Amino acid sequence: MRLATLVGSSILFRLWRQVVAHVGFTFIVSCFKVFRMIVRYDWTLEELQAMQATPLLDLVFEAARVHRQWHNPREMQVSKLISVKTGGCPEDCSYCAQSSRYSTGVDSDRLMGEQQVLEIAERAKAAGVSRVCLGAAWRGVREGESFDRVLSMVRSVTNLGMEVCCTLGMLNERQAQQLEAAGLYAYNHNVDTSEEFYSTVITTRTYSDRLKTLAEVRRTRMTLCSGGIIGMGEAVDDRLKMLLTLSAIQPHPESVPINLLSQVAGTPLAEQPELPVWEVVRMIAIARLVMPKSDVRLTAGRIKLTPEAQALCFLAGANSIFSSETEFMLTKAVPSPSYQADQSLLSALGMTLRAPFASQHAPRATELAAELAA
Ligand code: SAM
Ligand code: SF4
Repeated sequence: MRLATLVGSSILFRLWRQVVAHVGFTFIVSCFKVFRMIVRYDWTLEELQAMQATPLLDLVFEAARVHRQWHNPREMQVSKLISVKTGGCPEDCSYCAQSSRYSTGVDSDRLMGEQQVLEIAERAKAAGVSRVCLGAAWRGVREGESFDRVLSMVRSVTNLGMEVCCTLGMLNERQAQQLEAAGLYAYNHNVDTSEEFYSTVITTRTYSDRLKTLAEVRRTRMTLCSGGIIGMGEAVDDRLKMLLTLSAIQPHPESVPINLLSQVAGTPLAEQPELPVWEVVRMIAIARLVMPKSDVRLTAGRIKLTPEAQALCFLAGANSIFSSETEFMLTKAVPSPSYQADQSLLSALGMTLRAPFASQHAPRATELAAELAA
């Protein structure tokens, strides 16, 4: 072999070794697969651990690249939560202000009237919100008058030209079909954490109960919203395993909420320390890399992040948020940024609000928009 070829190949080899040492071989291979715009359902824990171990700005850079391949990076999807049935929940979720087992100062209310729901939804629409999420502090749906009233709310808010999501707890096949028939756009049901850590946070239901409801939703044409909470005392691997569970769902949930624990006084997790902001950014970036088509939603606890940290999360692939006229999420125990604060942040970043039913990757988007236009 000629000397020049030998020298050239040894320089290339050294360069390659340096690149591998810098970002990790598995991560490079994984990224090549992602860059080919392949959606994968077979990610491994080792691949996600390699992403977790990647220097933060390299990780953000790769996630931002993938984000730009699949989404309009200047667009933000904004949702508004409405608690249609607050408090008095029999479940023991250790983070939740609405569990009847803890003294959190959140009272149990009756089901909200449809007119009040419509007024909140109309104000949200005027503020540029595209999706209304109706939440009920139920263990699961029970058919009867209350569920019928929620179905009617779904129909009425959809008729305003907004996407409607419901989070009502566990569902069976028939209830999922009833929600689908009412025109529901999305159903939220979070896996919350890894299967291993789940029973340290919630004992009144199992991880497989959770997965069963997700499967019922997947059997309909409704889109799926499922994610979890970070900062509950879980190990880093629990967060990665949660992403593995979500990324094994076929197709991936169209929306993946990442909640930062909002420590609620009176709950068992009230004293949990704050997660370093870098762990939040990492989680967003890894979620973006493994579920490239999904909307990654930066949800509860966003108010604890500075505008700059939120911007870093948006760069890393978060393209969906909750905003609120009342400055709280479902209850006063979990604060949220206001419409005004969010509008000024998004305008400072040169971002626009995504219109309802305009997702490029949700199968029902075009179909529902056409039905509403007819
Ligand atoms: N009861 C229904 C259920 O559990 O599916 C719906 C309501 S529940 C409030 C919806 C989600 O909000 C939970 O699954 C959890 O991920 C999130 N959440 C509730 N309280 C939270 C808190 N204090 N901090 C962060 N996320 C929270
Ligand atoms: Fe009830 Fe949902 Fe809160 Fe758990 S998270 S206590 S199921 S309202």
